[in-house]
Amino acid sequence: MVVYNQISEIQKFLSGLNRDKQSVGLVPTMGAIHEGHLTLLETARSENEFVISSIFVNPIQFNNPRDYNKYPRNINHDIELLKQAQCDGTFIPTIDEMYPNPSIISFNFGTYDKGLEGAHRPGHFSGVGIVLSKLFNIIKPDRAYFGQKDLQQAVIVTKLSQDLHFGVEIKVVPTKREADGLAFSSRNQRLDTSQRKDASRFYSALKIAQKALNEGQPVNKVIQTVTHYINELENMSLEYFEVVNSETLNPVSKINSKEKIALCIAGFVGEIRLLDNIYLDEN
Ligand code: AMP
Repeated sequence: MVVYNQISEIQKFLSGLNRDKQSVGLVPTMGAIHEGHLTLLETARSENEFVISSIFVNPIQFNNPRDYNKYPRNINHDIELLKQAQCDGTFIPTIDEMYPNPSIISFNFGTYDKGLEGAHRPGHFSGVGIVLSKLFNIIKPDRAYFGQKDLQQAVIVTKLSQDLHFGVEIKVVPTKREADGLAFSSRNQRLDTSQRKDASRFYSALKIAQKALNEGQPVNKVIQTVTHYINELENMSLEYFEVVNSETLNPVSKINSKEKIALCIAGFVGEIRLLDNIYLDEN
């Protein structure tokens, strides 16, 4: 696997491919590679001749500087894992390479970035939109792979690619979980033993909510149950639990069997913010 730090280097490599016959799948990450990233790479591997990953902790998508500074970084270990995953190349640019000048652009994704994460992380999706637009322009992948774990991101990136004619097919890969249901996440590395045990409550809360909704309990009652279930532990706090249409991301107050519904949760264990979701009809 070749590591590229410069845009010109990776573009030189890409220009040598016969793009009619050799498709390129891109897996963008912020590093601290874990099994969740590896499922994206595996899917990309099965669908493309070339698999390129990227590692870039994008400063402009963090609204909390402490979260940015504390974000786990372990490039050498990441490179080993990416090699094992049979990635052909990885793009690891510096901040100056990606932002030679501060970006003057900002994205507004209409109703799609106003709720859920967007409501709690001002500017986050604009930052995500900018960095992915850069990566799509630099690498020009045929397909790009995103996790269902960041459902709102996956929906917004699909819109971005369509609206701006990037011609990148956006693929969404199901969430990979630990044995107790906790979704793999780079931020899990920051949990101590007791926090790690408590963190699985986010998934349990989603499963409790899923069961209650499928049994016909009203949405507002289920929101109360989940709020109590998370907040009853002293070191945990719920930021939001929402029942939404998984395509429009609009909140749903009544379950309608014709809509695809997602249950979305975010909150804190200590100072570490975690995020998860499941579909109402998933196992
Ligand atoms: P990140 O490095 O956190 O920006 O994540 C890079 C990509 O991996 C994003 O598309 C995430 O949605 C995806 N991802 C993160 N965690 C998981 C997981 N547990 N299962 C599947 N995909 C994931």
